[in-house]
Amino acid sequence: MSLIVESIPAFADNYIWLLRRPEGTACAVVDPGEAEPVITRLRRDGLRLDAILITHHHADHIGGLAKLRRLWPEVEVFGPADRRIPGLTRVVTDGDRVSLSGFEGAGLESAFEVLAVPGHTATHIAYRGDDGLFCGDTLFAAGCGRVFDGTFEQLAASLRRIAALPAQTRCYCAHEYTLANLGFARWVEPDSPAVAAAIAAAEQRRAQGQPTLPTTLAEECAVNPFLRTTEPAVIAAAERFAGASLDGPTQVFTALRRWKDERYD
Ligand code: ZN
Ligand code: FE
Repeated sequence: MSLIVESIPAFADNYIWLLRRPEGTACAVVDPGEAEPVITRLRRDGLRLDAILITHHHADHIGGLAKLRRLWPEVEVFGPADRRIPGLTRVVTDGDRVSLSGFEGAGLESAFEVLAVPGHTATHIAYRGDDGLFCGDTLFAAGCGRVFDGTFEQLAASLRRIAALPAQTRCYCAHEYTLANLGFARWVEPDSPAVAAAIAAAEQRRAQGQPTLPTTLAEECAVNPFLRTTEPAVIAAAERFAGASLDGPTQVFTALRRWKDERYD
């Protein structure tokens, strides 16, 4: 893919994803929770902000919008229909295609597809292009978002939808929660070699000061308990927590999510 994706760290553990081309000055950012780190990076690299993609309304994803719009008044701002997100220039919904002006020929310009992935919030969306998925707080490496104003059923269905995308899909999650999430994954599947290997790899990345992201769906399907709700070992662990037998992947998902909410973080 001729589009380059880089991380801009923000707050304690957010990533603002920067999309740019090998040449030229056009760029876009996903979920700018704060403006300053974006401004610093764009000035350092001589980039012009053409587009902002918003996944959901939480402050750590939109907090930098107003200031970035003042500095780049021409910027296009894409996001879901939600009155809690001020400053969108184009509301997008499931199945829409997002074209980024200035990105012609980059391979992604006509290929960004909007996916509705409610659950963390009721209006959360993701953006998919080529083999990349900008999934906000819906999917994390080895975890998923909490349920705020969506429902457990919605989040379970959204994660199933994401899991059905091609295995090589690279997931650009919005938070560096990987090691904590893998700690929970090890509780759920203590004997999993895949989880043990993922912990070793993530510890090495963090020790080098590197992000653990993006992750791939192939990796997530191997280690992420929230994508493994039909695995016998995961079902058994969820049933132990629930103290009852569970009927189907949505019930297993809900038990896992409540378990992590109540006992872990
Ligand atoms: Zn959020
Ligand atoms: Fe967030």
